Amino acid sequence: MSRECIFCDIVAGRIPAAVVYEDPGHLAFRDIDPKAPQHAVLVPKRHIETLLDLEDEGEAGRLMLAISGAAKALGLREGGFRAVANYGPDGGQEVMHVHFHLLGGRRLGWPPG
Ligand code: 5GP
Ligand code: ZN
Repeated sequence: MSRECIFCDIVAGRIPAAVVYEDPGHLAFRDIDPKAPQHAVLVPKRHIETLLDLEDEGEAGRLMLAISGAAKALGLREGGFRAVANYGPDGGQEVMHVHFHLLGGRRLGWPPG
């Protein structure tokens, strides 16, 4: 857990969130400012700052499987979705607790803006 981390607060239940998927190491919840009809944020429960701080292969692998679990829980298997992790100034990461955005429910543009 990290002090002053919004996503750690959500994991700990200190800030309410609409949870759509949970497994022992991960939580996915609806984004407070959705960019698509379906927009969830998937986080590891352990505080890791960015995608580039993942060092443990098992942890990284379980995160990928959690993306799959959350996407299926959201019913996105048929229609499709996008999983995005923002990093750094160009990527636009604002919350410094690694997370994947799961976006779906409409046709998404490519390349992203
Ligand atoms: P980032 O820009 O870091 O990749 O994405 C952070 C995401 O977290 C944003 O899409 C933002 O809307 C979402 N977010 C920020 N604060 C909260 C919150 O308190 N609750 C929820 N559910 N989402 C949040
Ligand atoms: Zn955190």
